[in-house]
Amino acid sequence: MSFKLPRGTRDILPADMSIWYYLESKLHAVSRRYGYREIRTPIFEHTEVFSRSVGEDTDIVAKEMYSFRDRGDRHITLRPEGTAAITRAYLEHRFDAQPPPVKFYYYGPMFRYDRPQQGRYRQFYQFGIECFGVDHPAADAEVIALTTDFLEEIGLEDVELQINSVGCSQCRSIYRQKLVDYLAPHREQLCNYCHQRFDSNPLRMLDCKKVECQEIFQYAPEITTVICEECHKHFSDVQRHLQNLNIEYEINTRLVRGLDYYTRTAFEFISSALGAQNSIGGGGRYDNLVEFFGGKQTPAVGMAMGMERIILSLHEQKQFPPHDNLQVLISAEGEKLLFKAMELAGKLRKYDITAEVDYTGRSLKSLMKYADKHNYSYVLIWGEWEQKKDKITVRNMQAGDQEELSEQQVVELMKRTTCMQREDK
Ligand code: AMP
Repeated sequence: MSFKLPRGTRDILPADMSIWYYLESKLHAVSRRYGYREIRTPIFEHTEVFSRSVGEDTDIVAKEMYSFRDRGDRHITLRPEGTAAITRAYLEHRFDAQPPPVKFYYYGPMFRYDRPQQGRYRQFYQFGIECFGVDHPAADAEVIALTTDFLEEIGLEDVELQINSVGCSQCRSIYRQKLVDYLAPHREQLCNYCHQRFDSNPLRMLDCKKVECQEIFQYAPEITTVICEECHKHFSDVQRHLQNLNIEYEINTRLVRGLDYYTRTAFEFISSALGAQNSIGGGGRYDNLVEFFGGKQTPAVGMAMGMERIILSLHEQKQFPPHDNLQVLISAEGEKLLFKAMELAGKLRKYDITAEVDYTGRSLKSLMKYADKHNYSYVLIWGEWEQKKDKITVRNMQAGDQEELSEQQVVELMKRTTCMQREDK
């Protein structure tokens, strides 16, 4: 019998881990610099946490949730996104009693029964941030600035930021009516997806990617022309803050985002390196969600981005993370030197060097082949011949040359090289 991965999931193999470690270290560093603190919620929650907040007729809730009843007959769902669960935790741990803003970041796997393709999986990793308790447009700009900093720091190029305002509940209902009036004569030409949403949630139709629908939406009224004065001011102020921080953006009045809980600001980061699944992240304001969960009215703003799509974009741009730790392989001849080699490896590891001892007894020739294939920077050869001279042969795999050094000199050289490598990062 041979087992295969479930459709839409992937193994992240050891050779691919360095880019993950790199991005993970950056997301922690950038978030902390902005005063966001990490929160880890469970991978599964009570189903209602998502179904009631994300929206019953969103794709996520209607078609994509991994839901089941546990052995205690509870309705459970593997989290499809982060915000709803974090809002639940915000209230459950009484963060609402703390002075605002309360700022969280999170990172981990999400689950959606999506149709798998390049950049779209059933288990994928999201990095996200949430800022609770402030309705000032500066908070929206800060969320966008943090995301921009992260993308810049990891070297992702050609990313476009699109922004929009989806208004508050009052202006949305006016817009909803306008949209329905405009679309009613075209209803029969709309795809099935839009047809279903026509009555339940017409704004969501604007998300549809079908060319025939997009053609119809082309002349639909724009939400920014109907939003109320306050929402309009908020939107302009967000833009003033972005300009002040030299963050470039485009206004996309068709940007509505997939989830129901957004109010006012909505934004998305689009990578030109990706094909159909070109959104690497997005977010916006969700001023009604906390109240919806039974808390007091609390403004909030956040974003989430998908790590797999970021990695795909980096690969497309041939951007690779800086090297891992210095990797050293020590080969000892005979039992006595093996003991010494194990000790030397221990000394090197103290400097965060990856030091391994070859205890397979393979020949020098096959050792070199192995070291080359596995990207070791140095091979240290400690044979009887070296021992007699109180030296170790140090082979630099990149340069292809070698020298003989004392054990103390070897440690010094490795220490220097690893420090230089770190400064380069
Ligand atoms: P959303 O939570 O739908 O706003 O998605 C935020 C980001 O998560 C997207 O921009 C993607 O980068 C990523 N994402 C969403 N769904 C998937 C998926 N099925 N597979 C991979 N990444 C995804």
